[in-house]
Amino acid sequence: DARAKARLAQLLSEFGLSTDTESLHSNWVGGELLPGDGDVIELINPATGRMLTSYRDAGIALLDRAVGAATTAQMAWMALTASERGRRMNAAVRMLEGHEESLAQLESVVAGKPIRDCRGEVGKVREMFEYYAGWCDKQHGEVIPVPTSHLNYVRQVPYGVVGQITPWNAPMFTCAWQIAPAIAAGNGVVLKPSELTPFSSVVVARLLERGGLPAGLINIVNGLGGTTGQALTGHDGISKLVFVGSPESGRIIAEAGARRLVPSVLELGGKSANIVFDDANLDDAVAGAQAAIFAAAGQSCVAGSRLLIQRDIFETVVERLGRAASEIAVGLPDEEATRMGPLQNARQFERVTAMIERATDAGARVVTGGQRPVELPDGADGYYLSPTVIADVDASMEIACEEVFGPVVVAMPFDDEGDAVRLANGTRFGLAGAVWTQNPARAHRVASQLRAGTVWINSYKAINVMSPFGGFRDSGFGRSSGLDGLREYTVAQSVWVETGLEASVAMGYGNGQ
Ligand code: NAD
Repeated sequence: DARAKARLAQLLSEFGLSTDTESLHSNWVGGELLPGDGDVIELINPATGRMLTSYRDAGIALLDRAVGAATTAQMAWMALTASERGRRMNAAVRMLEGHEESLAQLESVVAGKPIRDCRGEVGKVREMFEYYAGWCDKQHGEVIPVPTSHLNYVRQVPYGVVGQITPWNAPMFTCAWQIAPAIAAGNGVVLKPSELTPFSSVVVARLLERGGLPAGLINIVNGLGGTTGQALTGHDGISKLVFVGSPESGRIIAEAGARRLVPSVLELGGKSANIVFDDANLDDAVAGAQAAIFAAAGQSCVAGSRLLIQRDIFETVVERLGRAASEIAVGLPDEEATRMGPLQNARQFERVTAMIERATDAGARVVTGGQRPVELPDGADGYYLSPTVIADVDASMEIACEEVFGPVVVAMPFDDEGDAVRLANGTRFGLAGAVWTQNPARAHRVASQLRAGTVWINSYKAINVMSPFGGFRDSGFGRSSGLDGLREYTVAQSVWVETGLEASVAMGYGNGQ
């Protein structure tokens, strides 16, 4: 694994970090790279299964320092004019220029994602900062025509310091996704990335701050969920929690917030339904179904992991998807031709393969995949699983209702619209879904009945920072992206000014009588 280690060392040194455990300053706190003092955490290369490097858990003292730094920096940030905050956010993201390829490579090595995909995600970081920079001087309150002699106006004020916790499947994307609206709304941030993908958030935060953000406005602390993560959710200096991850951890985070009476936003998992009617353009639907589940090796919260197909075209679509799946180029993350890489970690690999085994034990049929790809390049001894299509499943089977978070899709037949909607809404999740049909009325009718935060019609996975994103039911609550995402980071403050009846009527603020 010398090649990956050398590559990582070179990338980290480009961003000012070493790879030696004791001198690896894996946290960005108060405008400084600082080491943790907790237990050693080992990082395994997803592509090879061998150790990449190790670092120390941030620990409580450093977390405390991060919250303190964010508190001070947030005041400095709010002392600037709104327009100046916008200018500085735009300047900040320009600091990524010239580093895009290295950022993409860093993400690719540690997360095990194909380099092509990582390049796209770096582009999204820029998009998200530019979008929210534009909101800085466009957030304003309103005047309420209260029926008294008062002028009543409402301001949108920041929470102060927000705590953010992110998963390993798209670390750089997720960190920018939550940091950009948080600071555009005037907050300071302490973010804990997944312990499995610690570095990209640190280097992005460091680059951004160089562009003129107050030192300490963005802090990244790296460590385990049960140590640094738990300390973050319980910290007195945090006024709002934003969590992106599994429903199981989300519940724990929301409970920790509830104990402190701190609100939370939860972006959790999914079991999204991709519904194909027999009047769909099947070329598009099969290509869409393939991208829906096999991009990022299915390690995507919006993965289209349930393919619901109208009964008369069921076998045709399953056969075509099976063929398309077996043709996907699975390979090393750093190779340009690779379209699908490994699963990110051993735990995930074991979880996914065990779920496939239980499904087949329960009578499901593996149409294609289900095991390690036979032909892999030399050295690819990591957590590889072939693109997998499973049929003959019952809606109550684990594989049909629980999130797999791997390259595994279950195909299920349905008879009519009502049946499709019932099946689609038949899990505890509600993150996303899609409808494939050439009948527009049917498309909108079905979309309106899906209990999912995002619905695509004749498309899958289109997302943009301008449009709200989030879940129903066990997929979480609150919204990210767009104006809704910005609003999660502010709270309304109502101000009442006694104007005197006569004056208020004259000013048009009175009771209107
Ligand atoms: P996870 O819940 O295991 O971990 C997520 C984060 O929570 C990590 O940083 C982890 O260290 C931290 N954490 C765990 N326990 C904690 C605790 N007790 N206190 C504080 N922090 C704690 O999730 P994961 O395996 O990293 O990510 C995969 C999951 O994330 C999937 O379910 C996926 O669907 C979901 N996800 C959702 C979205 C979305 O926007 N809805 C996006 C990406 C991923």
